[in-house]
Amino acid sequence: MEHYLDHAATTKPSIIAVEAFSRVVRDCYGNPSSLHKKGLDAEHVITHARKQIATALGCKPEELFFTSGATESNNTALRGTAKAHGRIRKKIVASAVEHASVNATLKDLEKQGFEVVRIVPVNGVYTAEQFIEAVDETTCLLTMMMVNNENGYQLPVAEVFKAVKRNYPEVITHCDAVQGFMKVPFTAKQLQADLISISAHKIHGIKGVGGLFVKKGVRITPLLTGGHQEREIRPGTESVPLIAAFGAAAEDMSESLSERFSHAMYLREYLAKKLCSMEGVSTHLPKYQIGSPYIFSFSLQGYRSEIVLHFLEQEEVYVSSGSACSKGVGSGVPEAFGVSSADADSILRVSFSEETTTEDIDILIEGLQAAQGSLRRSK
Ligand code: PMP
Repeated sequence: MEHYLDHAATTKPSIIAVEAFSRVVRDCYGNPSSLHKKGLDAEHVITHARKQIATALGCKPEELFFTSGATESNNTALRGTAKAHGRIRKKIVASAVEHASVNATLKDLEKQGFEVVRIVPVNGVYTAEQFIEAVDETTCLLTMMMVNNENGYQLPVAEVFKAVKRNYPEVITHCDAVQGFMKVPFTAKQLQADLISISAHKIHGIKGVGGLFVKKGVRITPLLTGGHQEREIRPGTESVPLIAAFGAAAEDMSESLSERFSHAMYLREYLAKKLCSMEGVSTHLPKYQIGSPYIFSFSLQGYRSEIVLHFLEQEEVYVSSGSACSKGVGSGVPEAFGVSSADADSILRVSFSEETTTEDIDILIEGLQAAQGSLRRSK
């Protein structure tokens, strides 16, 4: 039996999402921009999904734009803000622990002449003041992820955005909420974000579609030029079946957010207890209680992540060595949170969903113990 514990990398599409996809891909093949009935049918599908996701995000449907995924949403948010608002104000404030799709984009913007100030946690903790103090009248953009994808750390986004908007209302605030959407409770309004990125495949939708919330009145320059789709923020014929599945998944997930959150809390405590009773394990985020309960990061000391990952795979236990997008290339995020470089080499990330059971965790623990018994320590 499979024990999939890598839901931060991606989730299994829900039956509801797959059914929405199948129905639409079969029956609603019209181009949503076409003026005839087949086009209108497809357009209605998009309108319905936009409403479902906007309700889940706590925004107006017209504030939500479909993209190909959060990588594109993040690129659109950052580059689009830099282009529209960064002619004179050249400073961008960001957390130092952003996902590669934000981080690499920031590096590119640096090459274009922007000054990027990266805020590093102090003793493994972020305070709101660190960000608030870094923003000034030369800042065009502040970008902070909601939940770190490698260790579940929850950044004080709402507190920071609120203060920054009070001090410098012209600063554009962006939040990569991929690991928070439908997992930790928030609304677009509470966050005081101008821009929010989300992704379907992290919430039991299907890969290849995401969303960008753009607050009413906020101006960004689109990445692409083309037709009038998505009010020109994202031209190109919409993937109607993927959008339908995204809408269905978001609606389904929003109905059970608090039960799922409690379940993840229970699993995290269960796993933490088991790991703490093992020799040779260091759990990261000593203050893990402030993080999202869906993600847990620890090191099996002396054993390289990839070796343990493949060892566990033989028992059909699937975990991650960190960010799936970094594919083993060190992101520097664990070190930024104070993890030693030896521990960083042996980091494992476990991430839950509502389908995860204590039995999955028991099998993981057995696998880790077997790894300690039969694998050779790397140092
Ligand atoms: N941001 C975060 C925090 C993520 O975890 C991911 C996915 N690993 C992304 C952005 C990119 O999302 P997508 O796969 O939809 O491009």
